[in-house]
Amino acid sequence: MSPKRTPDFYSKLRTQEKNYAGQYNMSFSYKNNILHAEDIALPALAQKVQTPCYVYSSERIQHNYQILSRTCQEHLPGPAPLIAYACKANASLAVLTTLARLGCGADIVSGGEMKRALAAGIPSEKIVFSGVGKSESEIEMALFHQIAQINIESAAEMDMIAETARRHKQFVPVSFRLNPDVDAKTHDHTNTGKKESKFGISAELIEKLYQKALSDPYLEPKGISMHIGSQLTTLEPFASAFEVLAEFVTRLKDKGLDIETLDIGGGVGLPYSDESLFALPDYISLIRKTISPLKARLILEPGRSLTGDSGILLSRVLYSKKAGAKNYLIVDAGMTDFMRPSLYDALHPVYPVETDNSQTSKKTGENMIFDVVGPVCETADVLAKNVSLPSESTRPGALIAFMMTGAYGAVMASTYNARPLPAEVMVHRDKAEEIRPQLTVDDLLRLEKIPSWLENQAVMR
Ligand SMILES: *Cc1c(COP(=O)(O)O)cnc(C)c1O
Repeated sequence: MSPKRTPDFYSKLRTQEKNYAGQYNMSFSYKNNILHAEDIALPALAQKVQTPCYVYSSERIQHNYQILSRTCQEHLPGPAPLIAYACKANASLAVLTTLARLGCGADIVSGGEMKRALAAGIPSEKIVFSGVGKSESEIEMALFHQIAQINIESAAEMDMIAETARRHKQFVPVSFRLNPDVDAKTHDHTNTGKKESKFGISAELIEKLYQKALSDPYLEPKGISMHIGSQLTTLEPFASAFEVLAEFVTRLKDKGLDIETLDIGGGVGLPYSDESLFALPDYISLIRKTISPLKARLILEPGRSLTGDSGILLSRVLYSKKAGAKNYLIVDAGMTDFMRPSLYDALHPVYPVETDNSQTSKKTGENMIFDVVGPVCETADVLAKNVSLPSESTRPGALIAFMMTGAYGAVMASTYNARPLPAEVMVHRDKAEEIRPQLTVDDLLRLEKIPSWLENQAVMR
């Protein structure tokens, strides 16, 4: 995956990955050959916090939000769009609070995420609720908190929302998620805008539902929403989808329907390996050309692009071993901590935390190519393939970092194999604080219970 990286490569590295605005990520950089998160040296951090752990840069999150908000301000006419961060990418209370302080809203997909967003101080009028399977109690929660809108994903869900609203005598702003039938050309598991996808509603059906909602005493149809997929690296799928959306909205308006909000989802990708990415201003310009003329309040739902490159997964080498022609590096992080490689064939850069490559050093050894794997008993537990690492950073106890793991990392962690959930740390300049301790098996055992009929049974000999 990574190009061949000589020790010299790391010395020049500040890190090489540019964000979606084409800027280098300065929040993770080498200082004296040691990888830092802002001003925090990661080896010192790893002495205080058990690895594997996620480390987030608050500066990077702020930067990503501000770049997006500023680019919108510069390129889009009319009132500022609502930036509703897709919480599912990283719903840590500290991350959400960092964004809340900047004025960011939230796109949620569960009642749990609603609780998290509210706990972080995101005002309910900046919260939109997406997802195909909202339960009755989640809908009640949305009504109770009077969130900005519920994005409806089926006729049956609309009936449930209407019924719940009637029972509580509560008006509820709703939007209809359009399935534009376009191929986002991303991984199958993150492609959500095709006709056969479980997400969204066809244009024809939305027309009928919109009329029906208008005559409902409690539903307040506000507009149309859409989200075609995640990790998009070209603009074409967005362009096709926005065109479909614009045509559809124009048709609805011609029929006299009032479209107040247009929620165009998230999906902006990150350059995880060597793929090139469109520039943020081009994405926003596309919105200006296709969506702005519709004169509705714009809602954006960026997830990955706000937090993806703001986090790393810090891990320690346990062992290395050879198997035929392959070299395996076995580390203490596994697919339970970080699932993207197993789930989406994701490629993440892997960096050594300490690289001694000074001119005078004799330590600089050969680079070796490894498959980096975790301890989980699954063949799929491969975190990175064909990674070139300097030999001094592959010794037992050495630290390595999986880069750009701030989105869809910690949130997907599980306790499979009775492994702990990894700790999370947030860094702000020279401060590092644990924002969630490691959740251990002891913590889980405290919640578990032996059923009564087994309690007094003797163990068979
Ligand atoms: C996942 C999701 C997003 C965010 O996607 P990213 O690719 O992380 O930007 C936005 N909207 C909806 C409805 C989603 O399900």
